[in-house]
Amino acid sequence: MFGVCVCPVEVSVVWESLRGHHRQVEMFRRAIRRGRLAHAFLLVGPPGIGKRTFALRVTQCLFCTRHPPEDLQACGECPACKQVLAHSHPDLMLVNKPEGRAELPIDLLIGAPDRRGREGLCHDLALRPMSAMRRVAIIDDAETMNDAGANALLKTLEEPPSGSVMFLIVPETESILTTIRSRCHQVLFSPLPSNDLTDLILQEGIAPDRDAAQLLASLSDGSLATASQLQSGDWRSVRERVCRELAAKDLDSQATAALLLATMEELGGDPASQRRSALWLVRFMVDFYRQLLGVDTGGSTAETALITPVRQNAAGDLICDDRWGLMLERCLTAEMNLSASMPIPLCLEALCHDLGRIGRGALLTV
Ligand SMILES: [Zn+2]
Repeated sequence: MFGVCVCPVEVSVVWESLRGHHRQVEMFRRAIRRGRLAHAFLLVGPPGIGKRTFALRVTQCLFCTRHPPEDLQACGECPACKQVLAHSHPDLMLVNKPEGRAELPIDLLIGAPDRRGREGLCHDLALRPMSAMRRVAIIDDAETMNDAGANALLKTLEEPPSGSVMFLIVPETESILTTIRSRCHQVLFSPLPSNDLTDLILQEGIAPDRDAAQLLASLSDGSLATASQLQSGDWRSVRERVCRELAAKDLDSQATAALLLATMEELGGDPASQRRSALWLVRFMVDFYRQLLGVDTGGSTAETALITPVRQNAAGDLICDDRWGLMLERCLTAEMNLSASMPIPLCLEALCHDLGRIGRGALLTV
């Protein structure tokens, strides 16, 4: 079954395109070679960094007909590999929270009310494999299971079908019941390194060129999902709005604070996403002053159009450079304060107040 000779290029194809997470790949490879692959894994890490892709790649390696599972390699070409990629392999079960829903529907786990226990992921996982040597289940957004769903899944975790492998994907360890957590082998994933994220942003066509991709990566906390979100029309216009306000000749503290708070209101979301939004606003400001100081961080054409006249007007004026340096430092302090849970309105109002004072020539201790 695994007798096909493969060239060295083919050997690494499945993992080469996955950015970061090499330590986790090695961990899985060692476990499989020792015959100690656990039945259930909890893949933990921020959204949009490749946990689901990782689970799918491992599944490809387990199902690929051209490599033994111990190699943890997949050709990407055989029907099994292609079916996993298309989520259509008969031995792969993949569920996630549907768009617009708050919870992962219990029906996906144990079947609709009139078919309870006779269909759904828990039932299907216990069936004999149809074409691979085992069955694999991937539960994305596992933190959104309600208690009934979690209890149903717990039964499967307590008595996992022979040879089956489950991947539960969550943003944080604490976001899932301890009883579930304790029955899974935890694998922690870190945000993507900036270089890898830049490459991915380019590869996915999220930014038009490397400069823009680097800038986006620096704002995205190592998450491709965040990069994609920031590049959406809404966030682009927020960024331009903030830059336009800062580029005005005399910064009006109250008006700028009002604009930032109104933008926060507009963006909405729960307290955690509000804080992330506030951090992005401040990072846009940090980036604006960095660009004013001539630190080339890329940036969109719209921002360059706003920044260039400000720089030209101040050409050779060292006092301006000093002020922008102080303003940049003040924004960096605000970023730290926000990360340290300072109330958002207080932080943004104090920031704008101080930026106004620096603009009028005050020397602040920031
Ligand atoms: Zn294959």
